[in-house]
Amino acid sequence: SRPTAAHIRQQFLDFFASKGHHIVPSAPLVVKDDPTLLFINSGMAPFKDYFLGNKPAPYKRLVDTQKCLRVSGKHNDLEEVGYDTYHHTLFEMLGNWSFGDYFKKEAIAWAWELLTEVYKLPKDRLYVTYFEGDQGDNLTADTETQDLWRQYTTDDRILPGNKKDNFWEMGDTGPCGPCTEIHIDLRSEEEVAQKPGRELINADHPQVVEIWNNVFMEFQRLADKSLIKLPQQHVDTGMGFERLMMAVSGVKSNYDTDVFQPLIQFIAQEAGVEYHGTSPATVNDQPATEDERTDIAIRVIADHIRAISFTISDGQLPSNVKAGYVIRRILRRAVRYAFSSLAQKQPFLYKIVPVLADQMAGIFPELKQQQQFVQRVIEEEEIAFLKTLETGLRRIDALEETFKSQDNTIDGKAAFELSDTFGFPLDLTALIAREKGLTVDEEGFKKELEAQKARSRNAQEAEQSDWTIVNADDEQPTFVGYDLEEAPARILRYRK
Ligand code: ATP
Ligand code: MG
Ligand code: MG
Ligand code: MG
Repeated sequence: SRPTAAHIRQQFLDFFASKGHHIVPSAPLVVKDDPTLLFINSGMAPFKDYFLGNKPAPYKRLVDTQKCLRVSGKHNDLEEVGYDTYHHTLFEMLGNWSFGDYFKKEAIAWAWELLTEVYKLPKDRLYVTYFEGDQGDNLTADTETQDLWRQYTTDDRILPGNKKDNFWEMGDTGPCGPCTEIHIDLRSEEEVAQKPGRELINADHPQVVEIWNNVFMEFQRLADKSLIKLPQQHVDTGMGFERLMMAVSGVKSNYDTDVFQPLIQFIAQEAGVEYHGTSPATVNDQPATEDERTDIAIRVIADHIRAISFTISDGQLPSNVKAGYVIRRILRRAVRYAFSSLAQKQPFLYKIVPVLADQMAGIFPELKQQQQFVQRVIEEEEIAFLKTLETGLRRIDALEETFKSQDNTIDGKAAFELSDTFGFPLDLTALIAREKGLTVDEEGFKKELEAQKARSRNAQEAEQSDWTIVNADDEQPTFVGYDLEEAPARILRYRK
């Protein structure tokens, strides 16, 4: 039978509890007291102050599952969602933490023990990486990590990795250090015989995926870019729970696990369609068949309803600015898929909330507690957006011949008008374009946007690292949506 999410999650927590870790609950997704981040986007975010030394950690060893959202700034996986099978907007990051306590030796030993003895993942399908060093930073290869792994696996499964994949930094300054990542090859025997998994690490193969990152913080980056040794060493790990579920379930997609199947079955049933389990190879693939188009929509909705529901229950309502605008965009992206691929012309998403709330009640009770409120907020958003969607889509249809005549391109001006007047963010326009075999002149769009930005207010710096400001309205600085109270002004403007 299918492994249950509750069981696999609990095994992680219990394993590290048995190694002296204190189990702590997930922090809320919404960051209220940190001007540098809108949403928690990794397991370490809530513990930032402990690593920076601003606050003492309450325990030297912690274990948790942290709700994470990667939809803006440095980590933005939104466009992959629905097309690939292992990136989500909202996902759980399982983590074990050492604040000035154990270091590489224990972390590596426990990671291996948990994966191979508790979860019984096949050793000959696991690959690990270590930092290869960096001349510019005068850093030698992390041979300590390499040697530690040699106790557990063979050299052909221990791979060097560059600074981008194997050296983690909190931001321009602050704690940093090498990391070791664990990847798993879930392909069939035949495929493995054709090409060894080691050649597919970090190559965007949907069945050869990174599951766990173990970061060893031992340096501090100073403002002059130099590195010094930290007085204490820390361990920060993050394992994608949905990917772990895929691995332990022996399936080829996160969506085929107990995490997503209840949602998918409900959506399919409610919409009167079937989920076929297809998956396009890359994000830019057009859905080749109707089945594929349906599947993408179902995956997008199953993914996005989690992001929307949990951010609302953690205190962030959809709105026109910053974090609220990010949520509104995700919600509208889901509405758009339900509308066009599943023919849902009436509010639909809000109906899924009780399924999710029940599913998560054991670990994240906050959603169940606010279920009706969350449903109402989503339904109201849906009603408002469906009204404008019809109008905007008619506008695109009316201009389709023009777009075709200009090299199958939606020009920047039109894309901007759609955003500014119809409340279609660029990603939504790109989505509709993709379905119609058109592309969007994103440069042209940006130019229009810049011009408007100059007219409105100062642009702020885009987020470049984990700890600079996530400025959601960087992309849509004056977007005011198409809310009911604003509709009259907008309609006037459109008529003019
Ligand atoms: P990837 O290279 O696959 O995008 P990452 O290197 O960006 O992953 P990390 O920042 O190292 O990811 O996060 C730790 C773990 O969180 C990853 O090993 C992966 O299992 C999981 N993870 C990262 N991004 C996502 C996502 N968008 N959806 C689901 N799981 C994710
Ligand atoms: Mg990533
Ligand atoms: Mg990676
Ligand atoms: Mg990683």
